[in-house]
Amino acid sequence: SPVHAGNGKRVLLAEPRGYCAGVDRAVETVERALEKHGAPVYVRKEIVHNRHVVETLSERGAVFVDETDEVPEGALVVFSAHGVSPAVRDAADQRQLRTIDATCPLVTKVHQEAKRFARDDYDILLIGHEGHEEVEGTAGEAPDHVHLVDGPDAVGGVTVRDESKVIWLSQTTLSVDETMQTVERLRERFPLLQDPPSDDICYATQNRQGAVKAMAPECDLVIVVGSRNSSNSVRLVEVALGAGADTAYLVDYAREIRPEWLDGVRTVGVTSGASVPEVLVRGVVDLLAEHGFADVQPVTTANETLVFALPRELRASRT
Ligand code: SF4
Repeated sequence: SPVHAGNGKRVLLAEPRGYCAGVDRAVETVERALEKHGAPVYVRKEIVHNRHVVETLSERGAVFVDETDEVPEGALVVFSAHGVSPAVRDAADQRQLRTIDATCPLVTKVHQEAKRFARDDYDILLIGHEGHEEVEGTAGEAPDHVHLVDGPDAVGGVTVRDESKVIWLSQTTLSVDETMQTVERLRERFPLLQDPPSDDICYATQNRQGAVKAMAPECDLVIVVGSRNSSNSVRLVEVALGAGADTAYLVDYAREIRPEWLDGVRTVGVTSGASVPEVLVRGVVDLLAEHGFADVQPVTTANETLVFALPRELRASRT
Protein backbone atom coordinates (compact mmCIF):
# COMPACT_ATOMS: atom_id res chain seq x y z
CA SER A 1 0.00 0.00 0.00
CA PRO A 2 1.42 3.40 -0.98
CA VAL A 3 0.54 4.77 2.47
CA HIS A 4 3.17 2.55 4.06
CA ALA A 5 5.73 2.54 1.28
CA GLY A 6 9.12 3.58 2.51
CA ASN A 7 8.53 2.97 6.21
CA GLY A 8 11.27 0.32 6.15
CA LYS A 9 8.99 -2.41 7.46
CA ARG A 10 8.85 -5.55 5.40
CA VAL A 11 7.69 -9.14 5.38
CA LEU A 12 9.81 -11.97 4.02
CA LEU A 13 7.60 -14.82 2.91
CA ALA A 14 9.30 -18.22 2.79
CA GLU A 15 8.76 -20.33 -0.31
CA PRO A 16 8.15 -23.25 -0.17
CA ARG A 17 5.87 -23.24 2.86
CA GLY A 18 2.55 -24.85 3.79
CA TYR A 19 0.93 -27.93 2.30
CA CYS A 20 3.14 -30.76 1.12
CA ALA A 21 1.99 -33.45 -1.28
CA GLY A 22 1.20 -35.89 1.53
CA VAL A 23 -0.99 -33.46 3.46
CA ASP A 24 -2.79 -32.30 0.34
CA ARG A 25 -3.62 -35.92 -0.47
CA ALA A 26 -4.70 -36.77 3.08
CA VAL A 27 -7.05 -33.79 3.40
CA GLU A 28 -8.52 -34.45 -0.03
CA THR A 29 -8.99 -38.09 0.93
CA VAL A 30 -11.31 -37.13 3.79
CA GLU A 31 -13.14 -34.59 1.63
CA ARG A 32 -13.71 -37.13 -1.15
CA ALA A 33 -14.72 -39.83 1.32
CA LEU A 34 -17.35 -37.47 2.71
CA GLU A 35 -18.62 -36.70 -0.80
CA LYS A 36 -18.71 -40.32 -1.85
CA HIS A 37 -20.00 -42.01 1.31
CA GLY A 38 -21.64 -39.17 3.24
CA ALA A 39 -21.14 -38.31 6.90
CA PRO A 40 -19.99 -39.60 9.23
CA VAL A 41 -16.56 -40.58 8.02
CA TYR A 42 -14.40 -41.68 10.92
CA VAL A 43 -10.75 -40.66 10.99
CA ARG A 44 -8.24 -42.32 13.31
CA LYS A 45 -6.19 -39.53 14.94
CA GLU A 46 -5.91 -36.08 13.42
CA ILE A 47 -5.76 -36.52 9.65
CA VAL A 48 -2.88 -34.01 9.72
CA HIS A 49 -1.64 -32.08 12.75
CA ASN A 50 -3.47 -28.82 12.16
CA ARG A 51 -6.25 -27.44 14.32
CA HIS A 52 -7.98 -25.52 11.54
CA VAL A 53 -8.01 -28.51 9.18
CA VAL A 54 -9.41 -30.81 11.86
CA GLU A 55 -12.10 -28.31 12.90
CA THR A 56 -13.13 -27.63 9.31
CA LEU A 57 -13.42 -31.33 8.45
CA SER A 58 -15.31 -31.97 11.71
CA GLU A 59 -17.88 -29.38 10.70
CA ARG A 60 -18.33 -31.27 7.43
CA GLY A 61 -18.99 -34.59 9.12
CA ALA A 62 -15.61 -36.16 9.81
CA VAL A 63 -15.45 -37.78 13.25
CA PHE A 64 -11.97 -37.93 14.73
CA VAL A 65 -11.27 -40.81 17.10
CA ASP A 66 -8.20 -41.91 18.98
CA GLU A 67 -8.49 -45.60 18.23
CA THR A 68 -10.52 -47.82 15.95
CA ASP A 69 -12.40 -49.38 18.86
CA GLU A 70 -14.37 -46.11 18.99
CA VAL A 71 -15.63 -46.67 15.44
CA PRO A 72 -18.94 -48.57 15.03
CA GLU A 73 -18.52 -52.03 13.48
CA GLY A 74 -18.65 -51.96 9.71
CA ALA A 75 -18.20 -48.18 9.45
CA LEU A 76 -15.68 -46.34 7.29
CA VAL A 77 -12.44 -45.15 8.84
CA VAL A 78 -9.57 -43.19 7.31
CA PHE A 79 -6.01 -43.71 8.58
CA SER A 80 -4.13 -40.43 8.94
CA ALA A 81 -1.14 -39.17 6.96
CA HIS A 82 1.21 -40.25 9.76
CA GLY A 83 0.67 -43.95 9.15
CA VAL A 84 -0.40 -46.88 11.31
CA SER A 85 1.22 -50.03 12.66
CA PRO A 86 0.11 -53.49 11.53
CA ALA A 87 -1.58 -53.90 14.94
CA VAL A 88 -3.90 -51.00 14.14
CA ARG A 89 -4.77 -52.51 10.75
CA ASP A 90 -5.53 -55.85 12.42
CA ALA A 91 -7.74 -54.19 15.02
CA ALA A 92 -9.69 -52.45 12.24
CA ASP A 93 -10.07 -55.73 10.34
CA GLN A 94 -11.38 -57.45 13.44
CA ARG A 95 -14.13 -54.85 13.75
CA GLN A 96 -14.78 -55.29 10.03
CA LEU A 97 -14.21 -51.64 9.43
CA ARG A 98 -13.94 -50.37 5.89
CA THR A 99 -10.62 -48.53 5.70
CA ILE A 100 -9.09 -45.90 3.50
CA ASP A 101 -5.40 -45.38 4.05
CA ALA A 102 -4.22 -41.77 3.79
CA THR A 103 -0.69 -42.59 5.00
CA CYS A 104 1.78 -40.42 3.13
CA PRO A 105 3.70 -42.54 0.61
CA LEU A 106 6.93 -41.10 2.05
CA VAL A 107 5.98 -42.49 5.48
CA THR A 108 5.12 -45.83 3.88
CA LYS A 109 8.60 -45.83 2.37
CA VAL A 110 10.12 -45.69 5.87
CA HIS A 111 7.80 -48.53 6.98
CA GLN A 112 9.11 -50.63 4.07
CA GLU A 113 12.68 -49.91 5.10
CA ALA A 114 11.92 -50.92 8.69
CA LYS A 115 10.32 -54.17 7.54
CA ARG A 116 13.18 -54.99 5.19
CA PHE A 117 15.95 -54.39 7.73
CA ALA A 118 14.02 -56.25 10.42
CA ARG A 119 13.68 -59.21 8.06
CA ASP A 120 17.46 -59.10 7.63
CA ASP A 121 17.72 -59.03 11.44
CA TYR A 122 19.30 -55.60 11.86
CA ASP A 123 18.99 -53.50 14.98
CA ILE A 124 17.14 -50.42 13.71
CA LEU A 125 17.84 -47.13 15.45
CA LEU A 126 14.78 -45.03 14.68
CA ILE A 127 15.49 -41.35 15.31
CA GLY A 128 12.25 -39.61 16.23
CA HIS A 129 10.10 -38.02 18.90
CA GLU A 130 8.74 -40.34 21.56
CA GLY A 131 4.97 -40.55 21.42
CA HIS A 132 4.60 -39.11 17.93
CA GLU A 133 2.07 -41.08 15.87
CA GLU A 134 4.41 -41.57 12.94
CA VAL A 135 7.09 -43.11 15.13
CA GLU A 136 4.55 -45.42 16.77
CA GLY A 137 3.43 -46.62 13.36
CA THR A 138 6.94 -47.17 12.01
CA ALA A 139 8.20 -48.89 15.17
CA GLY A 140 5.11 -51.08 15.12
CA GLU A 141 6.29 -52.67 11.87
CA ALA A 142 9.14 -54.34 13.74
CA PRO A 143 8.80 -53.82 17.49
CA ASP A 144 11.50 -56.40 18.25
CA HIS A 145 14.11 -54.69 16.08
CA VAL A 146 13.42 -50.97 16.47
CA HIS A 147 14.99 -48.78 19.19
CA LEU A 148 13.70 -45.23 19.40
CA VAL A 149 16.41 -42.58 19.66
CA ASP A 150 14.85 -39.28 20.67
CA GLY A 151 17.68 -36.85 19.82
CA PRO A 152 21.44 -36.61 20.39
CA ASP A 153 21.17 -36.84 24.18
CA ALA A 154 19.44 -40.21 23.98
CA VAL A 155 22.36 -41.87 22.19
CA GLY A 156 24.15 -42.85 25.41
CA GLY A 157 21.34 -45.17 26.41
CA VAL A 158 21.19 -47.18 23.18
CA THR A 159 22.25 -50.82 23.21
CA VAL A 160 22.20 -53.29 20.30
CA ARG A 161 22.67 -57.04 19.90
CA ASP A 162 25.27 -56.99 17.13
CA GLU A 163 27.25 -53.81 16.48
CA SER A 164 28.12 -54.94 12.97
CA LYS A 165 24.47 -54.96 11.93
CA VAL A 166 22.99 -51.61 12.85
CA ILE A 167 21.11 -49.12 10.67
CA TRP A 168 19.46 -45.80 11.46
CA LEU A 169 16.14 -44.61 10.07
CA SER A 170 14.18 -41.51 11.02
CA GLN A 171 10.85 -39.79 11.35
CA THR A 172 10.08 -37.73 8.22
CA THR A 173 9.64 -34.36 9.93
CA LEU A 174 12.76 -33.86 12.04
CA SER A 175 15.29 -31.06 12.07
CA VAL A 176 17.87 -31.98 9.44
CA ASP A 177 20.75 -30.50 11.46
CA GLU A 178 19.79 -32.06 14.77
CA THR A 179 19.31 -35.44 13.12
CA MET A 180 22.82 -35.25 11.65
CA GLN A 181 24.16 -34.57 15.17
CA THR A 182 22.31 -37.61 16.45
CA VAL A 183 23.71 -39.72 13.62
CA GLU A 184 27.24 -38.49 14.31
CA ARG A 185 26.95 -39.51 17.94
CA LEU A 186 25.45 -42.85 17.02
CA ARG A 187 28.34 -43.45 14.64
CA GLU A 188 30.87 -42.65 17.37
CA ARG A 189 29.21 -45.34 19.43
CA PHE A 190 28.60 -47.79 16.57
CA PRO A 191 31.27 -47.19 13.89
CA LEU A 192 29.69 -49.75 11.54
CA LEU A 193 26.33 -47.95 11.62
CA GLN A 194 24.69 -48.00 8.18
CA ASP A 195 22.75 -45.17 6.57
CA PRO A 196 19.22 -45.53 5.20
CA PRO A 197 18.98 -46.29 1.48
CA SER A 198 17.48 -42.83 0.87
CA ASP A 199 16.51 -39.73 2.88
CA ASP A 200 13.84 -40.40 5.48
CA ILE A 201 13.42 -36.72 6.34
CA CYS A 202 11.10 -35.86 3.49
CA TYR A 203 11.59 -33.31 0.73
CA ALA A 204 8.90 -31.03 2.19
CA THR A 205 10.51 -30.91 5.64
CA GLN A 206 13.93 -30.24 4.11
CA ASN A 207 12.65 -27.56 1.75
CA ARG A 208 10.69 -25.69 4.43
CA GLN A 209 13.72 -25.68 6.72
CA GLY A 210 15.92 -24.53 3.83
CA ALA A 211 13.68 -21.55 3.09
CA VAL A 212 13.40 -20.49 6.73
CA LYS A 213 17.18 -20.77 7.13
CA ALA A 214 17.71 -18.49 4.15
CA MET A 215 15.48 -15.73 5.49
CA ALA A 216 16.03 -16.01 9.25
CA PRO A 217 19.35 -14.08 9.44
CA GLU A 218 17.53 -11.00 8.12
CA CYS A 219 14.57 -11.31 10.47
CA ASP A 220 13.89 -9.53 13.76
CA LEU A 221 10.93 -11.83 14.17
CA VAL A 222 9.81 -15.04 12.46
CA ILE A 223 6.20 -16.14 12.64
CA VAL A 224 5.61 -19.81 11.88
CA VAL A 225 2.00 -20.72 11.25
CA GLY A 226 1.28 -24.20 12.58
CA SER A 227 -0.06 -26.23 15.48
CA ARG A 228 1.82 -27.19 18.66
CA ASN A 229 1.55 -30.91 17.90
CA SER A 230 2.89 -30.50 14.36
CA SER A 231 6.45 -31.79 14.44
CA ASN A 232 7.63 -30.08 11.27
CA SER A 233 6.06 -26.74 12.31
CA VAL A 234 7.76 -26.76 15.72
CA ARG A 235 11.05 -27.60 13.97
CA LEU A 236 10.66 -24.48 11.81
CA VAL A 237 10.66 -22.30 14.94
CA GLU A 238 13.84 -24.00 16.17
CA VAL A 239 15.52 -23.72 12.77
CA ALA A 240 14.62 -20.01 12.52
CA LEU A 241 16.18 -19.32 15.92
CA GLY A 242 19.22 -21.46 15.13
CA ALA A 243 19.74 -19.61 11.85
CA GLY A 244 19.77 -16.17 13.45
CA ALA A 245 16.23 -14.86 13.83
CA ASP A 246 16.03 -12.69 16.97
CA THR A 247 12.73 -14.20 18.00
CA ALA A 248 10.33 -16.75 16.56
CA TYR A 249 6.79 -17.74 17.47
CA LEU A 250 4.40 -20.49 16.47
CA VAL A 251 0.77 -19.44 15.95
CA ASP A 252 -2.32 -21.31 14.77
CA TYR A 253 -4.10 -18.10 13.75
CA ALA A 254 -3.26 -14.45 13.02
CA ARG A 255 -5.31 -13.40 16.05
CA GLU A 256 -2.68 -14.94 18.35
CA ILE A 257 -0.08 -12.40 17.24
CA ARG A 258 0.44 -9.86 20.01
CA PRO A 259 0.98 -6.27 18.93
CA GLU A 260 3.99 -5.99 21.28
CA TRP A 261 5.80 -8.69 19.29
CA LEU A 262 6.04 -6.10 16.52
CA ASP A 263 7.53 -3.30 18.67
CA GLY A 264 10.76 -2.11 17.09
CA VAL A 265 10.60 -4.82 14.43
CA ARG A 266 11.49 -3.99 10.84
CA THR A 267 11.66 -7.38 9.15
CA VAL A 268 9.19 -10.17 9.88
CA GLY A 269 9.68 -13.58 8.31
CA VAL A 270 6.58 -15.67 7.71
CA THR A 271 6.37 -19.38 6.96
CA SER A 272 4.08 -22.30 7.70
CA GLY A 273 4.30 -26.00 8.40
CA ALA A 274 3.47 -28.73 5.92
CA SER A 275 -0.01 -29.22 7.42
CA VAL A 276 -1.07 -25.57 7.23
CA PRO A 277 -3.61 -24.25 4.69
CA GLU A 278 -2.54 -21.11 2.87
CA VAL A 279 -5.62 -19.20 4.06
CA LEU A 280 -4.07 -19.06 7.54
CA VAL A 281 -0.85 -17.54 6.17
CA ARG A 282 -2.96 -15.04 4.26
CA GLY A 283 -4.54 -14.03 7.58
CA VAL A 284 -1.12 -13.38 9.08
CA VAL A 285 0.08 -11.37 6.09
CA ASP A 286 -3.11 -9.27 6.17
CA LEU A 287 -2.71 -8.59 9.89
CA LEU A 288 0.91 -7.55 9.41
CA ALA A 289 -0.15 -5.18 6.63
CA GLU A 290 -2.55 -3.53 9.07
CA HIS A 291 0.49 -2.90 11.29
CA GLY A 292 2.42 -1.23 8.48
CA PHE A 293 4.18 -4.29 7.09
CA ALA A 294 2.82 -3.88 3.57
CA ASP A 295 6.00 -4.66 1.65
CA VAL A 296 6.00 -8.45 1.10
CA GLN A 297 8.99 -10.12 -0.50
CA PRO A 298 9.22 -13.84 -1.28
CA VAL A 299 12.35 -15.76 -0.32
CA THR A 300 12.36 -18.76 -2.65
CA THR A 301 14.83 -21.61 -2.18
CA ALA A 302 13.11 -24.50 -3.99
CA ASN A 303 10.26 -25.30 -6.33
CA GLU A 304 7.93 -28.17 -5.53
CA THR A 305 5.90 -30.05 -8.10
CA LEU A 306 5.30 -33.41 -6.40
CA VAL A 307 1.71 -34.65 -6.35
CA PHE A 308 0.51 -38.00 -4.99
CA ALA A 309 -2.42 -39.92 -6.43
CA LEU A 310 -5.38 -40.42 -4.09
CA PRO A 311 -5.69 -43.74 -2.24
CA ARG A 312 -6.88 -46.50 -4.52
CA GLU A 313 -10.30 -46.77 -2.77
CA LEU A 314 -11.14 -43.27 -4.00
CA ARG A 315 -9.54 -43.23 -7.40
CA ALA A 316 -12.36 -45.16 -9.07
CA SER A 317 -14.80 -42.37 -8.20
CA ARG A 318 -12.81 -39.79 -10.13
CA THR A 319 -13.97 -38.97 -13.61
FE1 SF4 B 1 4.57 -36.77 3.60
FE2 SF4 B 1 6.61 -35.18 4.29
FE3 SF4 B 1 4.19 -34.20 4.04
FE4 SF4 B 1 4.75 -35.82 6.08
S1 SF4 B 1 5.59 -33.78 5.72
S2 SF4 B 1 2.91 -35.86 4.81
S3 SF4 B 1 6.19 -37.24 5.05
S4 SF4 B 1 5.41 -35.11 2.38
